[in-house]
Amino acid sequence: MKLTFLGTCAGTEPMPDRLHTSLAIEHDDQIFFVDAGETCSRTAHLMGIDLLSVRAIVITHPHIDHVGGLVNLLWTIRKLNTRHPNHPLVDKTIEIYLPDPVLQTGIGCFLGESNSFGHGPNFTMKTYQDGLIYNQKRIRIYAQHNKHLGDISDGTNWHSYSLRLQTAKRTIVISGDVKHISELDPLIRDCDLLLMETGHHKVEDICHHLAKQQGRFGCLAFYHNGRAILADQAGELAKARHILGKRVLISKDKMTLNLDDAINMTTHCQTARDKR
Ligand SMILES: [Zn+2]
Repeated sequence: MKLTFLGTCAGTEPMPDRLHTSLAIEHDDQIFFVDAGETCSRTAHLMGIDLLSVRAIVITHPHIDHVGGLVNLLWTIRKLNTRHPNHPLVDKTIEIYLPDPVLQTGIGCFLGESNSFGHGPNFTMKTYQDGLIYNQKRIRIYAQHNKHLGDISDGTNWHSYSLRLQTAKRTIVISGDVKHISELDPLIRDCDLLLMETGHHKVEDICHHLAKQQGRFGCLAFYHNGRAILADQAGELAKARHILGKRVLISKDKMTLNLDDAINMTTHCQTARDKR
């Protein structure tokens, strides 16, 4: 399994060398996107990621720093398929998992606009809730709501989620945006890698909380990075490592983690750090 950070910035104004949040996860020749921040498809395509291998896209919540590049991603997949001599995705379906049904309406309008250049794939939009939302291609994705967008009234859907993604070898937890760090506690048991947002939480608060969960997770990678990390990455990393040791890294745009090749995740995190 290979993880590529396409964008690692929280919802800030434009920043040098950092785009809004998006991840591409490659497993068994299939690609999954988690969130689709600004220009994620441009970054992925120019890095050589085969967007015709995308099988599912999961949006954690409907804020622009997580969904602003989605329509462009879908357009780019359709454009690449149209330009390919064999149009390999004509009869294929790409599933888009959305936490908010309102998003379906908006995205549907844009998809209608771009239908004019034809040649599939089919895009199927699904609204998801807590539990197992994807179970195909030897990959499972579980969703657990969080309170980033507040509480809900009875009978309405939660609109913000954290995710746990499992293959036969690896388990990754992706925080999305969370209100309380403790909301992740039920998800992180025995996970190899926790991707934790720092747009709404201090590095030291995150690490002190996770230090109490010793043994429950492998490595920690900060993503969706907030202003403290943007201002002083080395200083924030030092704070985190003082509490949790070398199993912490700070992701940056275009960083990749090949999780299958790692002898163990700690070694891998250090290798990824040293390559920066
Ligand atoms: Zn965000």
